Amino acid sequence: MAAHDVFKIYEGKEQRTDVVALRGVNVELHAGEFVSIIGPSGSGKTTLISVLGGLIRPTAGTIFIRGTTITTLPTSQLVQFRREHLGFVFQISNLVPMLTLQENVMLPMKVAGKKDPKKRTLELLSAVGLTERRKHKPSQLSGGELQRAAIACALANDPEILLGDEITGELDTTTSQEVMDYLKDLNQEQGLAMLVVTHNEQIASQANRILRIKDGSVLTQRLREDTSAEELYEISVKGRITIPEELRRQVGLERLVQFRISSEGDHLKLYPSSVKSPPIVAEEPIKPVEKTCPACSQTVPQQVIYCIHCGHKFN
Ligand code: ADP
Ligand code: MG
Repeated sequence: MAAHDVFKIYEGKEQRTDVVALRGVNVELHAGEFVSIIGPSGSGKTTLISVLGGLIRPTAGTIFIRGTTITTLPTSQLVQFRREHLGFVFQISNLVPMLTLQENVMLPMKVAGKKDPKKRTLELLSAVGLTERRKHKPSQLSGGELQRAAIACALANDPEILLGDEITGELDTTTSQEVMDYLKDLNQEQGLAMLVVTHNEQIASQANRILRIKDGSVLTQRLREDTSAEELYEISVKGRITIPEELRRQVGLERLVQFRISSEGDHLKLYPSSVKSPPIVAEEPIKPVEKTCPACSQTVPQQVIYCIHCGHKFN
């Protein structure tokens, strides 16, 4: 999944009451990856996950999922696309109160016209440890059970991507870790890609990568690789780039500097406009901005690690 320059403006009665919930967000989620999104309340997390999952339309920007541009899909096709490829788990359980757990899990499969939904339902209920509870109604379940039931529903149609919003928000620490462990197993064993919103650092830190969001913009992306964490430096929507402190000290730059960028052959030169110093030359030659995936032959942005069309991992 890749989202480019996504904006969402909730329109108020007058222009001055408009709420800009997302201001040019760029996000990538690769096949088999587990990414968490963390940020304070009101920062746009729910809006982001809803827009990425095609539940609400962005005001501007493009979202690709497995090679399909969902932002231009007509609604009927979008609904079908969501049903086939995406699973949603939200904090507020979307279980139907009148139905038993088993009936709830079976519902999305019936809607999608799946064959033998009963068998799959029992498998899912067993996987989330709710076989004994299958005849119960949602009101008879605990918070952790409800959340696991919601996960079973989300997985009913074998999505490739699971989108979660504060899924452990209402749970105690032990239960929320149980739910997370179950999801992490699915991620690692079945390659389910997961994008999970939280405001809990402990939950967020279990992901491969953490996106920090504030006031509708993604601030930093932290790459977690086993124990060592390294930060990715990228140009933000406002045209800002964070330069590692070490490099800044080396070339004597202030905290905030403006650059003039000039492209010279195979590299870029940055001319700091507020400091009298020679241009900073990127040591690595700048590669072309796009590359071709060897597995599916489609063109993808140079910086991606996994192909956005087929999930192939680049070296
Ligand atoms: P978070 O999930 O991080 O708490 P939200 O995405 O729910 O943030 O909200 C981001 C901003 O958008 C907030 O200022 C919120 O008040 C506003 N907002 C969210 N949904 C709507 C809506 N349907 N109409 C108008 N404003 C909204
Ligand atoms: Mg929210």
